[in-house]
Amino acid sequence: MLVKGVVFRLESGLPSEAKLLLEDFRLAVNNAIRAGLQSRVTSRNALCKIAYKDFREQHPRMYAKHLVSSFEVAGSILKNHRRCGRKGVTCKIPYVKRLMMKAENQAYKLDRKSGIIDLPIRAGCHVELRLVVSQYHRKYLDDMTLSLGSLTILPDRAIVAFRKDAPKRYTPGSVISLDTNGRSLDGVFVLGDAVKAVKAGFPDIAIIQQRHHDRRRRLQKKKAHDRRTSRNLCRREGAREHHRIEYRLHQVANSVLKFAEERKSAIVLEDLKGFKSKRSKELNRRLSLWPRRKLHKIIEYKAQWRGILVYKVDPRNSSRTCPICGRIQDSRMGAEFKCECGWRLDRHINASINLLQTAISKGMAGGLWFNPGAFQHDVMMILYEPAMAARSEPNGTSGVVGVT
Ligand SMILES: [Zn+2]
Repeated sequence: MLVKGVVFRLESGLPSEAKLLLEDFRLAVNNAIRAGLQSRVTSRNALCKIAYKDFREQHPRMYAKHLVSSFEVAGSILKNHRRCGRKGVTCKIPYVKRLMMKAENQAYKLDRKSGIIDLPIRAGCHVELRLVVSQYHRKYLDDMTLSLGSLTILPDRAIVAFRKDAPKRYTPGSVISLDTNGRSLDGVFVLGDAVKAVKAGFPDIAIIQQRHHDRRRRLQKKKAHDRRTSRNLCRREGAREHHRIEYRLHQVANSVLKFAEERKSAIVLEDLKGFKSKRSKELNRRLSLWPRRKLHKIIEYKAQWRGILVYKVDPRNSSRTCPICGRIQDSRMGAEFKCECGWRLDRHINASINLLQTAISKGMAGGLWFNPGAFQHDVMMILYEPAMAARSEPNGTSGVVGVT
């Protein structure tokens, strides 16, 4: 079962009853966390057993299903807390500060046509929440193969989980192998005998990171006398940067997957898990690793949702190996990979060929086979470049154009 959370804005603020419910819910979660820590349990049922009765007495009218789901939320927080403890990281006793609540799918009703949620507060008391529905949201609301999962409510938005069975994966007829770099995905597209270079560039992400990084530095200097303001401003900068980058990553991932879907391709990526960011290394490098992993994550979950195969392979030596004769070069060279056997190719594309060969040698690519010698040096297929996005990023209103 695959789950996708879709965020909706609320047309108007939360009604006061709902706000009170959120506060009660938060209280219930925090109580359950405390009770769970005391008696060292983390499962929903166990929490239910020890905390349900007390809380029920304090809030006799709260809808029982919401109460049970508060134990579930508390349980998952406790599990995370326990995991932290195991790793030896000292962490504070968890406490939910933000107003929130989660309702299981039987505990609310969503009219998928009008986008109105009917949320029970207690017996005989329901509130209506109107969701802002854009074209993007319509895609999910109108697709009746998707069933509704849980609902998370925050003061200004609601997150609806849509669920579906994992789609059947097609047998790939072609393959895209991509080497992930700081400013682009570079690789090859293999269909039959043809091997062509592909590229999805995102040079603006590094620029945004650098710009926000500089800006934070400046803020810290300027507000050095006021730690609190400095922290708040930096946090705001960070959130902005995060949104801007995330938006671009989704654009890149979407175009790669669209390309793959249209050509029934499998996708080969390098496994970035092994890379550990070293504290001592330059900050720039640390900055660049995050969006790459994030991009992989986005590609992977979107691919799963669409039934596209993604293979992750060990990238060891991929940038130093000659795909023709197998020689491993001593060091990485400049922009071009050159081998004594006469093979020359763009370093990144060469790396992607090696990734693909690793995938094939492990029997991953479904019996596909290819000859790196057939690489067409004069063709380059562009999967994505920033200019393809009509607007660099949506502002507050453009996301909801074409409503209802
Ligand atoms: Zn060679």
